[in-house]
Amino acid sequence: MSLSREDAKMCVGPGWASLIDLLYDRIQVSNTHMLQYPMCCPLFVYVSSVKEKWGTLRIYVFDADDSLIDFIDDIEHRSSKICETCGNPGTSVAIHGWFLTLCSDCQKKRKRIKYDSIGF
Ligand SMILES: [Zn+2]
Repeated sequence: MSLSREDAKMCVGPGWASLIDLLYDRIQVSNTHMLQYPMCCPLFVYVSSVKEKWGTLRIYVFDADDSLIDFIDDIEHRSSKICETCGNPGTSVAIHGWFLTLCSDCQKKRKRIKYDSIGF
């Protein structure tokens, strides 16, 4: 099943929306090219799943060619340096056993919420 751009953005934090846009813009170019030249590029690409795993963005695409796979690898790698919550530069951190990519401000907020919710 194919995932729309807006649905993909709902699967992860808002800080990664710009990465999702890069992905969908790139796929749109591939698919437009495919419609114009069906003989040279017979693959119609779609995103099947987007999620966060171990603090980085994971993208699953159906019928990606090698250049798109490289592009996706690059986007996933970039997500390890972008705060998933706000989009500022971030780092991978483990908070209460969960790996997340967050900027320093969002790390502080996340820790505070966690402590508040368990009564510290
Ligand atoms: Zn942040």
